[in-house]
This record gives sequence, structure tokens and C-alpha cells, in this order.
Amino acid sequence: MAATRTFSIIKPDATRRNLTGAVTKMLEDAGLRVVASKRIHMTREQAEEFYGVHRERPFFADLVAFMTSGPVVVQVLEGEDAVTRNRDVMGATNPENAAEGTIRKTYAESIEANSVHGSDSAENAEIEINFFFKPEEIVG
Ligand code: ATP
Ligand code: MG
Repeated sequence: MAATRTFSIIKPDATRRNLTGAVTKMLEDAGLRVVASKRIHMTREQAEEFYGVHRERPFFADLVAFMTSGPVVVQVLEGEDAVTRNRDVMGATNPENAAEGTIRKTYAESIEANSVHGSDSAENAEIEINFFFKPEEIVG
């Protein structure tokens, strides 16, 4: 099967605890390759647009505040069936429901501060990659 791409964010709770390398190792051990990576501090405008689908949800303002509370690491990941592979290693949104051995089970602090984001479809992966990266920043 051909390699596909997905988009990942290592969230502020993880960068604050110096877990960038530990989380990236779990992604790599799951068969994903980091083909682009940068550490940024998201602006409120970026976070609001990125999580725009959740605009009407009660947790939206808190989520935007959290995502802009510290640095994040945005990454493009490549691998076979990358979207599903990444969602599998991330684990459930709520760490209490996440399977053993997943990133969220291992590291997440709460349903909000859950250490990682991963695209939920190939279509959204493409949109999210283009939101943060120029083509020349991705080196596969
Ligand atoms: P992500 O989109 O970050 O990969 P996800 O797809 O597992 O996570 P979504 O339903 O898209 O989950 O929610 C986006 C993010 O919003 C979650 O990762 C979490 O940080 C936050 N969130 C979701 N549900 C809640 C909630 N009930 N209370 C607080 N925060 C929440
Ligand atoms: Mg989501």
C-alpha cells in the first residue's frame, strides 16, 4: 500500500512536560515517519479557525485558551494508512477511555489536555497540513 500523510499536533500539556521526544517516539514506533515538524505558538485566530468545527460546543473557548497556552509542535506524518494508524496510537479523546499503550493513556492529563491531535480523515489531513505547512517544508 502506498504511503499516505496525516497531520499531528503535540499539544501544550505535552510540550510543557518536555514530552516532545517521548510522544514522537511513540508515533515513530507505530510506523509513522515525521516528514515535517515545527514548534510554534498558535495565535487565537489560528486556534479558532483550526478547531472551527467545534465553535458551537460548550468547551470551545476553553479549548482555544488551552491550545494557545504554550508552544505546540505541528507535524506531518507519513506511513501506510497514516490517518488510522495515528488515531490508533493516539487513543480515545478522553484518556480514561483510551487503550493501554496509547499516547493519551500514557500521557494525557484530561479530556482537554490530551497531549495530541490527529486528523480524523484523509480530507481533513490535507486541509490541516496546508493550514500549517508550505509544500517545500515537507520532505518525505
Ligand atoms: P483532536 O481533534 O484534538 O485530535 P479528537 O478528534 O479525539 O481530538 P474532538 O472531538 O475532535 O476529539 O475534540 C477536539 C478536542 O477538543 C479534543 O482533543 C479535546 O482537546 C477537546 N475536547 C473534546 N471534547 C471535550 C470535552 N467534552 N471537554 C473538554 N474538551 C474537549
Ligand atoms: Mg478531532
